[in-house]
Amino acid sequence: MNRLVFQTPIEYLKGVGVSRADLLKKELGIFTFEDLLRHFPYKHIDRTRFYKIREVNPDLPYVQVLARLTNKEILGEKHTKRLVAQVQDDTGVMELVWFQGVRWIEKYLQPGKVYILFGKPGSFNGKPQMAHPETELYSPATMKQKGNMTLQPAYSSTEKLKQFGLDSKGIQKLTEPLLDQHAKDIHENLPMHVLNQFRLMGRADAYRNMHFPEDANMLNEAIRRLKFEELFFIQLKLLKNKLLRIQKFKGHVFETVGDYFNEFFHHKLPFELTNAQKKVLREIRQDTQRGVQMNRLLQGDVGSGKTVVALMSMLIAIDNGFQTCIMAPTEILANQHYQTIKSLVGDGFIEVALLTGSTKKKERNVLHERLENGELKILIGTHALIEDKVQFQNLGFVVIDEQHRFGVEQRAKLWRKNNIPPHVLVMTATPIPRTLAMTLYGDLDVSVIDELPAGRKPIQTVHYYENQRLRMFGFMKQEIDKGRQIYVVYPLIQESEKLDLKNLEDGIETMRHEFPMPEYQISIVHGKMPPKDKDFEMQRFVKHETQIMVATTVIEVGVNIPNASVMIIENAERFGLSQLHQLRGRVGRGAEQSFCILMSSHKLSYDGKIRLDTMVKTNNGFEISEIDLQLRGPGNIEGTQQSGVVDLKVADLTTDQALLLQARKCVEDIFVKDPALAHPENQVLQLAFQAKNAGLSWDKIS
Ligand code: ADP
Ligand code: MG
Repeated sequence: MNRLVFQTPIEYLKGVGVSRADLLKKELGIFTFEDLLRHFPYKHIDRTRFYKIREVNPDLPYVQVLARLTNKEILGEKHTKRLVAQVQDDTGVMELVWFQGVRWIEKYLQPGKVYILFGKPGSFNGKPQMAHPETELYSPATMKQKGNMTLQPAYSSTEKLKQFGLDSKGIQKLTEPLLDQHAKDIHENLPMHVLNQFRLMGRADAYRNMHFPEDANMLNEAIRRLKFEELFFIQLKLLKNKLLRIQKFKGHVFETVGDYFNEFFHHKLPFELTNAQKKVLREIRQDTQRGVQMNRLLQGDVGSGKTVVALMSMLIAIDNGFQTCIMAPTEILANQHYQTIKSLVGDGFIEVALLTGSTKKKERNVLHERLENGELKILIGTHALIEDKVQFQNLGFVVIDEQHRFGVEQRAKLWRKNNIPPHVLVMTATPIPRTLAMTLYGDLDVSVIDELPAGRKPIQTVHYYENQRLRMFGFMKQEIDKGRQIYVVYPLIQESEKLDLKNLEDGIETMRHEFPMPEYQISIVHGKMPPKDKDFEMQRFVKHETQIMVATTVIEVGVNIPNASVMIIENAERFGLSQLHQLRGRVGRGAEQSFCILMSSHKLSYDGKIRLDTMVKTNNGFEISEIDLQLRGPGNIEGTQQSGVVDLKVADLTTDQALLLQARKCVEDIFVKDPALAHPENQVLQLAFQAKNAGLSWDKIS
């Protein structure tokens, strides 16, 4: 019954009709009764008290005043025509003014009578004034009526809707009777024990109070209830998926730590592991002994030592007779992993191979054979790894670098290659805030490396304005004299491509002038170059034939040149925080002190200034990601758009971290006690799942 009510098309609501319905659909995306009820007010206006005229000042939001009309007159002509009136109470006098509907209101206003005035206070000639106040004749009866003395909803609307009488008030006139009539059809969807535990308001009450709160406290409780509900159901879905996966997919058990691991650990590993690295290794070790497929996300800043952890986990897999692979999003990255791992394991220790789009056919065939007969233990590559032709004899452990470039489907494809799926470790160097991780990767276990290897010198970052450019050149020369290399990065963003290209060209010219040949050599790399030329220029820099590399953001991913110790970012104010952080991560890879110089013009937006200040203040990727979230909101953080899970209506991952933790914990507890959600007390949750399977979005009303 109730589902039908709320799915009713909006044109059937009394007072809507076909043309208004069309507008509601087009302008606000309101198609059904349900959509209307979920068009929550964006704020409420306080009509719970009257302000005295003496208190009224332009800093206040909308206020309500009770005062007697003393005078009214129409002034001006035609365009300047206006109605001006005076009101007074026992504390002072205030002027009211209307520029529209003058004639009509003039008739309505009666000097000597008391009015309830409601509007945004202003001032005129230093005296309090209100323009176009809502004006209502006072009588003891009006005071009792609904609408006064409450928090009144303000709904967002549009110019077009307003023309059809659907301003905030007009929308309210639709919502109010709908709620009056159908509140009983809004069924509870959280178990009673959850409501009790978190002292949550009932669902129907929450909807009513979202629109027409009894008081401010009830409004807050309604908001809390609906936020909780929203977060709860996301977590329910994620954790249910995880549970299903655990039930469905067995996992290989890595019983022993054998020769490969021990040999590497005792004789090849050139440094002490950090505590964070050890902790993550322990977590992975535990995961891989339980007989359940591991799905773990490993977060850690660039240079925090994720690759080593991945390699050591892989060695354990190999010790237990399995093959392993690393999948990277680009050829450059795959190549780099290959080089890193080759150099870590040394010669003659273990079979490692690289497979990318550019691997020659002949090589490829050999590779396939060695994979199938189990000889090859570590395969590193790109998407090429998930081609059907690539068959492992016994794939046991998969490392995926940079999660959000691979879809879930692609991941699944990898583990369809075995009866028992391999353990999966997803690595990302783009730290994301905890709340986001919990929602985006809520069905994965999360490990964090939050500690850099000892002895690393933190990159020193400064922010220079244009007038400090000479100083920057001086610094560059000084570092080049010491034998260091330098990146200079320019933004290249689609919308203003031409201008950017010009900037880049001007920049290059200045550099050439400032750093003349033959003393200085400059590499230039930008996105518009053929890959071959790019590679050539890159190689010159790698071989230290050039000291400066001028580039657009193409170097963001992948390059590892320890001798490059200075990163200069031009127009730094135009980059996002995570991009700045990624770019800065290109330096600080060697033993030398590294530097990052952020160049900007004097014209900085407020957010731009915060971004640059943040970069100067901290090197910590997690801290930076939190600030990024505050600045941009969850919808704009990389990797969130496609997921849909952050498409939240009431809750906000930026501010509702505590509530999210509660909701997650609550769901976890429920699944511990009742994994199938079969207990009578959890029946409502079963219903929610069924509703979802019927094709309905379950965080909605019906
Ligand atoms: P990530 O993959 O997280 O960016 P890497 O694993 O590539 O980091 O490590 C970055 C560099 O630091 C590599 O040269 C690596 O050999 C080195 N490294 C890793 N762990 C340690 C450690 N515990 N102590 C010293 N150096 C380390
Ligand atoms: Mg790495």
